[in-house]
Amino acid sequence: MHSILAINSGSSSLRFALFEVGESLPQILIGKFDRIGFPDAKLSFTDVLANKSDERMVDALDHVACVPLLVELLEKKTGLDSVSTIGHRVVHGGPRYRDAVRVDGAVLEELRRISPFAPNHLPDAIALMEVFTAKFPQVPQIACFDTAFHSALPRVAKLLPIPRRYEAKGVQRYGFHGLSYDFLTQELERVAGAKAANGRIILAHLGNGASMAAVRDGKSMDTSMGFTPAAGLVMSTRSGDLDPGLVAFLGRSEQMTETQFDRMIHHESGLLGVSEISSDIRDLLAREAADIRAAEAVALFCYQAKKWVGAFAAALGGLDTLVFAGGIGENSPSIRARICEGLGFLGIELNEPRNRENAPVISAQNGRVAVRIIRTDEELMIARSVSRVLGLGAVKERIES
Ligand code: ADP
Repeated sequence: MHSILAINSGSSSLRFALFEVGESLPQILIGKFDRIGFPDAKLSFTDVLANKSDERMVDALDHVACVPLLVELLEKKTGLDSVSTIGHRVVHGGPRYRDAVRVDGAVLEELRRISPFAPNHLPDAIALMEVFTAKFPQVPQIACFDTAFHSALPRVAKLLPIPRRYEAKGVQRYGFHGLSYDFLTQELERVAGAKAANGRIILAHLGNGASMAAVRDGKSMDTSMGFTPAAGLVMSTRSGDLDPGLVAFLGRSEQMTETQFDRMIHHESGLLGVSEISSDIRDLLAREAADIRAAEAVALFCYQAKKWVGAFAAALGGLDTLVFAGGIGENSPSIRARICEGLGFLGIELNEPRNRENAPVISAQNGRVAVRIIRTDEELMIARSVSRVLGLGAVKERIES
């Protein structure tokens, strides 16, 4: 058997999935390391072929420490020889990478050069690629960039309104969650047809990280994240868009350093910062009746998301389809309802029973906009990208089937 190993590393998690090379890329093994860097780090996995799941506590001080544990698991399950390619999700591709690429010395050098663009992600991603290269020297590795889906953004959506000279240094809107958006676009075409997939679409990926993309003719026309994934919507611990004047104000009044500011906007803000309770929207929904701070955090999240839907409907000149994805988008009827409430003037009307059931189509029959839930699959998108780059002939399988 030949398989593709997809590696999707987040800030404190590492998801992996093993797919059999072939037309339909069937899953063999899926799993996740959680709470990396904490004493209660955990590995959970499902052997899809045997239909068996398991989990255990592990010592995983960082992402690299997960690799020997994963190798041990692969050795037991399929044998290491079966791994014929490895695909990595890489958050930032900088100005150069507009598509997935095969990793070599030059790619690693460019990623090191642009590491300051994503200092919390790229050094870990590079370290992972190096460790996998050492363990699997003969196995090609492909870097799949979250920025690639947005690489052809219209110029007006790319430009940041600061002095022009910074653009030459790579400062522009890049946008992220690209693997998810690529998958959602392909899946929309599969379930709703080419006409819908080429229409005016807003894709809302609402997880711990949250962003939206305005898509037309299958291409990203604008997106809420910017030069970094800290911009745009309110997130679990990230602030999203802020008044830029705050940097100087907090520097002067609190002697806040650049490092403290960076920590605040990434780890202490968003749902966690406003609620002072939790970064997890389920906790806040459970507490909102009793605690005003939880209620305000949820209200702010939904209000900002609603504003982005309005902004992107304007950018697209109208709206045909709204897609919800990500942990919150796929699972929270209440949040979806609050975001859509009052958007009847755009043609967005929900069918409440369907919304409560997390049905694939949740719009009312008389709504002009089709509102859908699509379960995103970044690991499958990594496997498709690997297949395409290496010419394994398994790209369009699910779309065509
Ligand atoms: P990440 O961006 O880390 O991949 P996820 O896409 O898994 O995150 O989303 C995590 C978010 O999804 C959390 O805020 C969590 O509360 C929310 N979530 C997951 N399941 C549910 C559910 N059943 N109802 C409401 N929210 C949910």
